[in-house]
Amino acid sequence: MASASKPPTPMMQQYHEAKEAAGDALLLFRMGDFYELFFEDAKTAAAMLGLSLTSRDKGENPVPMAGFPHHQLDQYLAKIIAAGRRAAVCEQVEDPRQAKGIVRREVTRVVSRGTVTDDALLDPAENNFLLAVAPGEPCGLAWIDVSTGRFEAGVCDPFCLPDEVARLEPAELLTSDDAAPLPAACSEKRMVTGRPGWAFGVDAAYDALRKQFGVQTLDGFGFTEDDAPAVRAAGAVIDYLNETQPGLLANVDRVTPYRVGQSLEIDAASRRSLEITQTLRDGRREGSLWAVIDRTVTSAGARLLGDWLANPLTDPRRIEARLEAVDELVGDESLTKAIREQLRGVYDTQRLLSRVVSGRASPRDLSFVGRTLALLPKLKAKLTGRTSARLGQLESRIDLCGELRDRLDGALADDCPLTSREGGFIRTEYSEELDQLRELMKGGKRWMAEYQAKAVAESGIPNIKVGFNKVFGYYLEVTHAHRDKVPAEFIRKQTLKNAERYITPELKEYEEKVLTAQERAFDLEHELFVELRGVVADAAKRLQATAAALAEIDVLAGLADLARSSGYVRPTIVDEPVLDITAGRHPVLDVLEPAGTFVPNDIAVSSQSEESAILLITGPNMAGKSTYIRQAALLQLLAQIGSFVPAERATVGVADRIFARVGASDDLAGGRSTFMVEMTETARILNTATRRSLVILDEIGRGTSTYDGLSLAWAVVEHLHNEVGCRTLFATHYHELTELADELPRAGNLNVAVKEWEGTVVFLHRIVAGAADKSYGIHVAELAGVPRGVNRRAEEILADLEGGRRRVDAPQNGAPRPSGAYQMKLFETVDHPLLEAIRSADLEQTTPLEALQLVAAWQRQLEGEAAKAKPR
Ligand code: ADP
Repeated sequence: MASASKPPTPMMQQYHEAKEAAGDALLLFRMGDFYELFFEDAKTAAAMLGLSLTSRDKGENPVPMAGFPHHQLDQYLAKIIAAGRRAAVCEQVEDPRQAKGIVRREVTRVVSRGTVTDDALLDPAENNFLLAVAPGEPCGLAWIDVSTGRFEAGVCDPFCLPDEVARLEPAELLTSDDAAPLPAACSEKRMVTGRPGWAFGVDAAYDALRKQFGVQTLDGFGFTEDDAPAVRAAGAVIDYLNETQPGLLANVDRVTPYRVGQSLEIDAASRRSLEITQTLRDGRREGSLWAVIDRTVTSAGARLLGDWLANPLTDPRRIEARLEAVDELVGDESLTKAIREQLRGVYDTQRLLSRVVSGRASPRDLSFVGRTLALLPKLKAKLTGRTSARLGQLESRIDLCGELRDRLDGALADDCPLTSREGGFIRTEYSEELDQLRELMKGGKRWMAEYQAKAVAESGIPNIKVGFNKVFGYYLEVTHAHRDKVPAEFIRKQTLKNAERYITPELKEYEEKVLTAQERAFDLEHELFVELRGVVADAAKRLQATAAALAEIDVLAGLADLARSSGYVRPTIVDEPVLDITAGRHPVLDVLEPAGTFVPNDIAVSSQSEESAILLITGPNMAGKSTYIRQAALLQLLAQIGSFVPAERATVGVADRIFARVGASDDLAGGRSTFMVEMTETARILNTATRRSLVILDEIGRGTSTYDGLSLAWAVVEHLHNEVGCRTLFATHYHELTELADELPRAGNLNVAVKEWEGTVVFLHRIVAGAADKSYGIHVAELAGVPRGVNRRAEEILADLEGGRRRVDAPQNGAPRPSGAYQMKLFETVDHPLLEAIRSADLEQTTPLEALQLVAAWQRQLEGEAAKAKPR
């Protein structure tokens, strides 16, 4: 074997050790000014990153190699992570100038989707969660955003795991290698990192957390014995970060317990179909509720709004507190404008701080902290003396950190570089020593000129010149003509054809100072910077609290701006489960449809006795049924995050859960929904909805045959009506369901108004009381060119159905119904000899021509029957 015949060089040995530590991560091996990848990694990187593949050691065993300059690290890390891989960065951990032998190298961090902190790799408007799932029943969940230090943990029923994953949208999942894989609904399209089973062990977890937070017990954080699974998951997070990027843990000073049920619950499927944060069709943020209501001007604000949407409130007092704040801001346009103007200048302090605390902040990062602090006094002043309690609280949480601000202001130049090694970013007068060094650097030339003049004057040699060369630095040059006048302290260094070169102790002493001044200035600047970074890190807690307050002010001011510019009203929040909207609009379509064309509609459902809890909305396709029922759910959701709602008036009873189901055939999301899925989801609603829930069902039962589907839909509505009693909006094109309103006292019918206008049918999108006008479909058929006779017959059948409600009479020509004519009843199968013929036809063995002949034969048979039935 080649490796046996030729032992690896010490460097390659070092590489192999690092690669071993890096596991499946691509190893970026720092060599001088480059990061290099070798072997398989090099081939992968060449294809993935577009690097050119070369080889090292071109002899008999060439090693594939690819690399990039060190300053492009972020850019390539971003590509590696975007491709779903992780990268291990192996740095030179000692100064090559000081190294004896080969430079020591170590893997200093392993970066993956869930552990990135660099701005270049993060979406500023979204959290970037690393989520650990501790197996068990209940299972434990812990999630952290290392870019902000937010760390939470809770327990949940394994059944609800997909919902929690949908709520958190983690960038990376940690799972136990000893447990069964996560369901596809959780892991699909996500980075999943397997961890050894022991990483989720309960003792190891308590130890890791106690050590991390320097506490004896986790009780202080609010965790109890029942939270053991949550603690296990949190332990796995700490363990993983310790292994991959220990520096990040410096920013993690607490873990907060999360309790399921604290907020309005929305399961994964409902979240999807309501298009809260992304659209069904292409999964993009554009076109979602979030995109439409987001008027925040800071990244932290955008993230917080995302959090609010993911976790709407259920406590009416907290909802009111937000609404009151928004209300005050809506009422004072100039205040809101001024606040938003100030906030625009605020940097993402949460993420800056995480870099500061983990020792990765740049001078520019620190200057951004300083600039943010500079805005605070004005902002705080604007918020002083407000009537809303929430604004008052937020104002008091803004810590001006005056001393820190002055210090940063005094220390950092206006334009700071991305690395402290560039130097030149510390202001003059911040450090006396630095000023002297700089003076020395600047003053070097002047000193030389003066020294030259002095040498000329003292020696009487008129043409002494000062020069510099690399071999012996600064020198004085005297032509041979004046050699005899050279003073004694001149030390000869070099003889040229026409001149001699000398040095003097004074010159050497100064040279020493000048030459090292620059280097020392850089080092000193770096030291001052590190010290400054430490000062900022010490203030991290106060700064985090301030940043959180700013983010919330941004969200509230954004909601106020939205309310004002889009004509939203403050909802009245009540405890009773009602939803009473006057002239409500769908928040997304309201802006997507051409201005002024969206038709507002009223909504009134209530789970209180004697009132309509269930509304059945019928109407043709494209009339606006789905829009109407989704609008109800979205307005409910908006109210519960503390937002105004698009309506003229709204009374909203706090809901505990929102369910939104779309019938199988309507769900276009990648053919995901089969009838089975639809029914599983429906079962879940029936089993878990309470009187306080809001349920919207869209074309449920459509994924199977008509009778099947209709019967199921019927039974579902009955169950919701009789057993659950929750607010329900049910959109359907099954007219038959409208009969339910007669049978169930608390169900009502609505339909979508349509109008015939200049030979075309116009959908008015107006929801009106009563069942849909059934002749409408026939009318459309006529417009579409269906033969007159067929339409007339259709009208007869319709009249039968409407008259007898569940009977279809055979064609009538004024004569009594002949015996033997069949009746069609809803939910009863029709018995006719032809049906058997149709059922038993073997289509696989039938040619198209034979099929036509069969149909023709059946038609003849039917015509014969009709003729027999006719009176002679
Ligand atoms: P359905 O569920 O009855 O098939 P949709 O709710 O999907 O119909 O609505 C179809 C289209 O009609 C929507 O995409 C929208 O363009 C338009 N629409 C629906 N409701 C309204 C409304 N209230 N005002 C204006 N346009 C509407």
